[in-house]
Amino acid sequence: MPQKWGPPIKTTCSYCGVGCGIEIRKSDKGKLTLKGDEQYPVNKGMLCSKGMNLHYTAMDQSDRLTAPQMRWSRRHPLEEVSWDTAMQRAAAVFKTFIEQHGPDSVGFYVSGQLLTEEYYLANKLVKGFLGTNNIDTNSRLCMSSAVVGYKETVGDDAVPISYEDIELSDTILIAGANPAWCHPILFRRIEKHKAENPEVKIIVVDPRVTDSCALADLHLQVQPGTDKYLFHAVGQYLIDQGMIDEAFIRQHTNGYEQYAKEVKGKSLKEYAAICQVPEDDIIQAARLIGQSKGFITMWAMGLNQSTTGVNQNLALINLNLITGKIGKPGCGPFSLTGQPNAMGGREVGGLANLLAAHKNLANPEHRKEVADFWGVESIQEKPGLTATEMFDALKSGKMKAIWVICTNPSVSMPNARLVDEALKAARFVVVQDISKNSDTAQYADLLLPAAGWLEKEGTMTNSERRISYLPKLLDPPGNALPDAEILMRFADKMGYHGFDFESMSEVYDEYALLTKDTPIDITGLSYERLKIERSMQWPVPAPNHGGTPRLFEDGKFLTPDQKANIHTTGPENEAEPISPDFPLILTTGRIRDQWHTMTRTGKVSKLKKHIDRPFLEIHPEDAAQRGITEGMPVLISNARGEVQVAARLSTAIKKGVVFLPMHWGKKLNGDLNRANNLTSERYDPKSKQPGFKFSAVEVVPY
Ligand code: SF4
Repeated sequence: MPQKWGPPIKTTCSYCGVGCGIEIRKSDKGKLTLKGDEQYPVNKGMLCSKGMNLHYTAMDQSDRLTAPQMRWSRRHPLEEVSWDTAMQRAAAVFKTFIEQHGPDSVGFYVSGQLLTEEYYLANKLVKGFLGTNNIDTNSRLCMSSAVVGYKETVGDDAVPISYEDIELSDTILIAGANPAWCHPILFRRIEKHKAENPEVKIIVVDPRVTDSCALADLHLQVQPGTDKYLFHAVGQYLIDQGMIDEAFIRQHTNGYEQYAKEVKGKSLKEYAAICQVPEDDIIQAARLIGQSKGFITMWAMGLNQSTTGVNQNLALINLNLITGKIGKPGCGPFSLTGQPNAMGGREVGGLANLLAAHKNLANPEHRKEVADFWGVESIQEKPGLTATEMFDALKSGKMKAIWVICTNPSVSMPNARLVDEALKAARFVVVQDISKNSDTAQYADLLLPAAGWLEKEGTMTNSERRISYLPKLLDPPGNALPDAEILMRFADKMGYHGFDFESMSEVYDEYALLTKDTPIDITGLSYERLKIERSMQWPVPAPNHGGTPRLFEDGKFLTPDQKANIHTTGPENEAEPISPDFPLILTTGRIRDQWHTMTRTGKVSKLKKHIDRPFLEIHPEDAAQRGITEGMPVLISNARGEVQVAARLSTAIKKGVVFLPMHWGKKLNGDLNRANNLTSERYDPKSKQPGFKFSAVEVVPY
């Protein structure tokens, strides 16, 4: 009998922050098929290799966790238990630690892969009820420098523009990002725009010649960590040549005079020497920007994952502000989120220093407002521990218990061996995940099986503030439960009131109410509306409001005086210095067809065809100095650890810099493939985002 296919269900890709629309169908034999949603404004039917193969990850359940597992002590093996036993144990342990050591002895480490409703519940549970702000997310590793950058300049964590602005721009500066591989559908839009409008100029700033450079009119192969100097040099030239918008600066900004003084502090020649970029190229970039009508700056991890990440964000956003290229068609600073719901997580206060609805943890009125809304006495003033701080606290014994949801810190955190030690030192580790293949699962005292994509209902927000609705299509395997349900069961065992939601739409409604009269007001966007209209960009303050594709069109920003702040750069931590023992700069990143720590994309054989194993990209001159030839096994090392992979010789990377992909963990492939054995946990002092893009290493034949 041929299988019968059900009607197409519209949902959203659960990989990157582009947030492509998908149409998926299920057959009566349980098979799935999918295609890009042609009506969806983000991707108009297109999908990248990861999105096209997403249904295989949902159909292959060979690695899925299907029942809670628990061990009574580290000497005992994990054994299957009921949900009731699992939740009772979790509640008993968390209550004991909180009573004996205070609420800051426990913490949650969550993920930009969670749905907004789940993220909201986790934050409410931890900040409102457990009484600690120790909840941070893996978005700390990718977005927190951009969050600070936006807050300090435009007054809130508010991405001002939309993908549709790409088609209205004539100059796009892509810095520290490789969208051709990491945000492919967004890049297709840029490619199409340029193909149809050859006068459109693309400038790429990157220490590597990536596939994104194929589209570039100008590639500035900057020395790692020096981007802010490059942006300052461009700013200086724009000022000197009168290519700035003086009226905009006067009417809508503060801080220009100090900025102008700062960028004039060095000559163009000096900036060029620091960045190792020819002075003429800097001038050419500045001219393209100065002559443009629609100017977009676009960036990702290359700027954010740095000990000077916030300064790099500020220096780049300043270029939009001094040219008045913000709040206008085809203009604005556009940070590309790595994860599908990194924005949704930020909206509900997913970082240790934030509160839901973009309210400010440091503001006593905001804390009181949220506490009253949740019906709790108060919310702690002290910011919680951030990602790296939490694992340090576990290692030192300051924190006793951690609950890890939907993320794999044993592979993804910097200095991963220290994270392994921290998880071993922790008194109690809860891991809530869909996959047995998470390296972090081996440290679990309590392992909780979670539902995955298509197996639960909720919303996500993509990079352009677009909230989309994801319906449930499949039942989770075995006894796996949606993350929200797990959190509600735990809250019940803790004796907390305020978590008796009947549906995800009730959770959404509660969160939406908290956004009322804030810059991210979504009180006009209900589940009913989302089910019909599929998606909308916040704010949506009334039921007849059509969403907001572009912010700041009236020139009013979200600062107290409604003026944007042009910032001089502030304090920063030192990146790890190179030395005679470790003379090369290691930078890490993604490859085209893999996602995060490969717990999903690693299951799809088609996705291994592009690149099936980790490698070290090294300049031929650096290789020759070390007797390294193409394909030779090499050992990359520093004081924190080693990685052993095959060398790929390439002039695409700057001399003195080497590149490792970050996806491979030790469980599937052995400890010596894990790039984060080498990365430093040094972080930006303001955003606390670690500097994955700069670690000192040596490479030798192995
Ligand atoms: Fe999914 Fe991102 Fe690819 Fe779109 S670009 S299909 S959201 S991985």
